Amino acid sequence: MPSEPLTVNQHRAAVADLVGAQPPVTYQLADCRGLVLAADVAAPVSLPPFDNAAMDGYAVRSVDIAEASAEHPVELPVAEDIPAGRTDVVPLLPGTAHRIMTGAPLPPGADTIVQVELTDAGEHRVRVLGSVPPGKHLRRTGEDVVAGATVLTDGTVLGPAQLGLAAAVGLPSLTVYRPPNVLVLSTGSELVGPGEPLRPGQIYESNSVMLATALREIGCRVEELRFVPDDVAAFHAALEPRISEVDLLVTSGGVSAGAYEVVKDALSGQGVEFTRVAVQPGGPQGCGRYRGVPVVTLPGNPVSSLISVELYLRPALLAAMGHRVVDRRKVRATLTSELDSPTGKEQYRRGVYRPRFGEVSGEVGPSGGPGSHLLASFAAANCLIVIDAETAHLPEGAEVDVLLFD
Ligand code: AMP
Ligand code: MG
Repeated sequence: MPSEPLTVNQHRAAVADLVGAQPPVTYQLADCRGLVLAADVAAPVSLPPFDNAAMDGYAVRSVDIAEASAEHPVELPVAEDIPAGRTDVVPLLPGTAHRIMTGAPLPPGADTIVQVELTDAGEHRVRVLGSVPPGKHLRRTGEDVVAGATVLTDGTVLGPAQLGLAAAVGLPSLTVYRPPNVLVLSTGSELVGPGEPLRPGQIYESNSVMLATALREIGCRVEELRFVPDDVAAFHAALEPRISEVDLLVTSGGVSAGAYEVVKDALSGQGVEFTRVAVQPGGPQGCGRYRGVPVVTLPGNPVSSLISVELYLRPALLAAMGHRVVDRRKVRATLTSELDSPTGKEQYRRGVYRPRFGEVSGEVGPSGGPGSHLLASFAAANCLIVIDAETAHLPEGAEVDVLLFD
């Protein structure tokens, strides 16, 4: 007797349990993009590490130019030139100026910077055309970061600013949650590669690149195994040499109720449970462990398989990689046309969402029909419209939940 189908949330929880937390690992900064910090980071140095000029100009003692004006400039000898990167210490003597560039260290004895625009820009002698109070155009040691302070915390997603900060405090690498190595294995004897002419009954294989891209987008390392035929021996021959190298196996196809369901035939009774989820699209699902490795088996219909990534794998893998936000942004939107939906199943329709300027909720219309083979309308969509299991019909103008792909 077939058992009760699972809800989306039940299968989501099962996949999340299966895909446990990833271990920490240390990577060079350039390899950390989009990954999540696995430890707090303290700054080894202060930022700025030394008092320095915030503008190009002249380092002076403010008292020496207190009386300067355009009518009565104060002229000072320029004793030194301090470009950025000069590392020797050159004290300023009273009654003199050092020409200084942005980022160069403030010489001892100087207490302010006269910006070049307030001078005649002289090289050997400079005429200062106005007064400047002490401490002007200076960037003080530790103004941004004090050495020893925590600058990035466990759980931070590493984007450009965070990686820039790590580099600025002199760190070559960071400890992050290691992205999982995922093997995407697509089955189907009807599938061929680009460049091959299509014989009757054949189609071009599309799920591998699609699923791999969805997983790479969230940070996974993905290898693809394509064109595995609907034959149990061939399936095992393709899988066995690879399974021990990966953190997760994701299969496509071969899990429905028909004959020649290769994934089901190969992995049933081997630790993988095949189930139905009360959802459209993507009812046939499975998950478990094969040879100790987590396995998630997706249906082969392209739309079903990609929506299955959205519903189950994406949140589970984001959580495994330390992300605290694992869900798509959900907004309310007004339907621009009526929609029918099967009762007893949650439905996820591809949609086009348009924000309305100045208003909290935008409007949304379906992109194509509900068919799980309609990939072109998925490619034109920017969201999923969520319709709960009880709802059979939604009139135009109804408010619906929308998950945004942004
Ligand atoms: P299956 O789940 O194997 O019964 O496949 C369901 C439908 O999806 C069939 O029409 C398959 O031809 C199609 N399909 C399965 N795998 C792929 C794939 N990798 N690329 C494109 N279409 C696929
Ligand atoms: Mg198939």
